[in-house]
Amino acid sequence: MMALAGIPLGLNFRFLDPSAHACAGPLGKLHRAEFSDLLAVQAMASEIDVATFDFENVPADSARSLASARTFHPCVNALEDCQDRLLEKRLLRSLAIPVAEFQPVSSRTGLLDAVEKIGLPAVLKIRRLGYDGKGQVLLNQHEDLEPAWQALGQSDLILEAFVPFTAECSLIAVRNEPGEVRFWPLTKNAHGNGVLLLSRPGVLGADLQAQAEDTVGKLLAHWDYVGVLAVEFFILQGRLLVNEMAPRVHNSGHWTLDASVTSQFENHLRAICGIPLGDTTMTDHALMFNWISEMPEMRHLLLEQGLHWHDYGKNPRPGRKLGHATLVARNESDLMRGAARIAQGLGGRWPELLARLDGRS
Ligand code: AMP
Repeated sequence: MMALAGIPLGLNFRFLDPSAHACAGPLGKLHRAEFSDLLAVQAMASEIDVATFDFENVPADSARSLASARTFHPCVNALEDCQDRLLEKRLLRSLAIPVAEFQPVSSRTGLLDAVEKIGLPAVLKIRRLGYDGKGQVLLNQHEDLEPAWQALGQSDLILEAFVPFTAECSLIAVRNEPGEVRFWPLTKNAHGNGVLLLSRPGVLGADLQAQAEDTVGKLLAHWDYVGVLAVEFFILQGRLLVNEMAPRVHNSGHWTLDASVTSQFENHLRAICGIPLGDTTMTDHALMFNWISEMPEMRHLLLEQGLHWHDYGKNPRPGRKLGHATLVARNESDLMRGAARIAQGLGGRWPELLARLDGRS
């Protein structure tokens, strides 16, 4: 999606990916190698002016190697801070940004101590490489501790207090080298089993938007950040707590392709290439559906006027995100009527998820 946004700007792309079927492959030269292959990283560096990444499990050594050879955005510090939930939470706390109570855990007795301090319910998570609810276990009672330790105890862990949130949301921002910052409207998100399924921007009001912008602005300034940054929040009694951060274009910002003057992908490229930033105003009411594990039947759904389809061309795998669709409409009632028709047509959990997204926050 980033390359698709950059080609009209006259940019050329090189991609590093271990898979011969990398979905960006047709859009530029594919360097097929492991992300940790420093020789491949340097070979690619010799062919480019600017490097970036679109998922945060890039090994820090590869990032440093690229950054030593070429302009590299966002900075390696931001990448490393966001790769480790403990570093992430400590940074947030040091900037006086509200987060759930947390404790590092590296042993069975450490887990008991952490539960003693934080109480139950709590969420035990692996510190690194976890995403979409993977590598985490909800602890409701003391009997849950041993199975959770058995499941996750080989990794470094963090215990977080369970947040009884009313809703989840995310803010996407972009900052360029001179320090100009733009925000998209806060996006309300509904997850199923920890995986983002529905997103609706622009419905959370000015107060939450201001809180989120204040928080994200502090992080951007801290890292002297260049590019797109996404921050996910819990909403609890009208206040925001940060759940996690992603130093990259983000799942919950894909709607910007179809309902914003400038998409997150285009603005990320503009920021890292020194091109003036584009307008982040929403152009329509929008609601995004994520397609996980399998793509639904497209022809029937596209009878819905205003639905934009994005098939990533990925091989289906249980739990894998394969695409998304964004419904846009001129007004809220048309949007929600169309969304209800789509959710009914999809069946399963979709009507309930839509009702949850539409509920109070
Ligand atoms: P994560 O991978 O940390 O973003 O977690 C995935 C999802 O699990 C979140 O979007 C929440 O729905 C839920 N979750 C994670 N941590 C907590 C927490 N401390 N309290 C309540 N729910 C959580």
